[in-house]
Amino acid sequence: MKTVLIIGAGGVGRVVTHKAAQNRDVFEKIVLASRTKSKCDQIASEIEGEVITDSVNADITDEVVELIERHNPQIVVNVALPYQDLAIMDACVKTGVHYLDTANYEHPDTAHFEYKEQWARDDIFKEAEILGVLGSGFDPGVTNIFVAYAQKHYFDEIHYVDILDCNDGDHGYHFATNFNPEINIREITADGRYWENGEWVTVPALSQKIDWDYPEVGVRDSYLIYHEEMESLTKNIPHLKRMRFFMTFSEKYLTHLRVLENIGMTSIEPINFNGQEIIPLQFLTAVLPDPATLGERTKGKTNIGVYVTGIKDGVEKTVYIYNVAQHEEAYRDTKANGVSFTTGVPAMIGAKLVLEGKWSGKGVFNMEEFDPDPFMEELNLRGLPWKVIEK
Ligand code: NDP
Repeated sequence: MKTVLIIGAGGVGRVVTHKAAQNRDVFEKIVLASRTKSKCDQIASEIEGEVITDSVNADITDEVVELIERHNPQIVVNVALPYQDLAIMDACVKTGVHYLDTANYEHPDTAHFEYKEQWARDDIFKEAEILGVLGSGFDPGVTNIFVAYAQKHYFDEIHYVDILDCNDGDHGYHFATNFNPEINIREITADGRYWENGEWVTVPALSQKIDWDYPEVGVRDSYLIYHEEMESLTKNIPHLKRMRFFMTFSEKYLTHLRVLENIGMTSIEPINFNGQEIIPLQFLTAVLPDPATLGERTKGKTNIGVYVTGIKDGVEKTVYIYNVAQHEEAYRDTKANGVSFTTGVPAMIGAKLVLEGKWSGKGVFNMEEFDPDPFMEELNLRGLPWKVIEK
């Protein structure tokens, strides 16, 4: 029986579970495990048909091994936090089970994420004859697939890539993040970085802005930030001269963020509070609205895409590939907000392609290393249709 084990019952885990349950022909048995089993039970109760639930501390490899041995899955979909990536990957190696995630490893004590330690597991994945799919969310994930699709169908050489990420949803709160606040704020408050002429250029956080006209949304302030798919894409796409990533933030969001930063609330340095050591950013995360509760309140659209310029048959051309998703539609389908939806659907699709044997291999791979065509077809079928504008 084809079995998927989903680890992490947050916003993204909810979407992966709902969407897997909509594709029972492939996901014959669905298991959802998280640190807090009651969250898994809540999600299972929303779904027709059986979803088996369990609990696990995925920081501990042996616990994940025991979990895998209890349920015997063919693939583990890791949608817990990036801190758990390595422990879950090691458990997959020990048990010979395929692995898929949506975010690259980050150490809890340093606000820094990179693929190094996950790529270093390539050999042991090969020895165990298993496949590791890294970053099968939207960005990373669909953005990598969009670039691979552009490379396959539109270009001989890709020279410039801008990834453009707009969340135009409004949840009605003064300040809230659309996915895990700790991970989100760590990403945004880090220095900006882009890739040009073979090297990384670092700029102060949120110091570079463009106005970008997002189809079906409009012109929005978009800030240059570093984003993890650039690490693999700059390795895997030849001839590239520049790659940048821009994300929209409203003035209101940035004002709150600046104040929180100025008063030390976004720091990950431990402080002593009433005799107890706490980390300000973790405390802030506990105070902020839980992203899993934003779905019902959020209205509006997301537009995420890639703007690619290069050469085809000696002529310069540009292609813009993007998806527009609607928060309200995401909630109707999966009881989650659009950001969890746009992450969870691609995670389900990646797992589906592996279980169907359409994506295979031994070792650890980023998304652009697979054939993008079956993934692009699935996006159209599973709620994330895309468009191509050729210029
Ligand atoms: P949430 O914080 O909503 O959910 C994370 C879940 O993981 C929680 O249910 C939590 O546990 C569980 N968890 C945390 N630590 C452990 C642990 N040690 N053992 C077991 N379970 C644990 O996050 P999201 O759902 O918003 O995000 C999930 C992942 O998706 C993150 O890695 C995030 O970075 C990634 N992401 C990727 C995107 C992309 O486009 N590629 C975009 C957005 C997010 P508990 O059961 O206690 O609640």
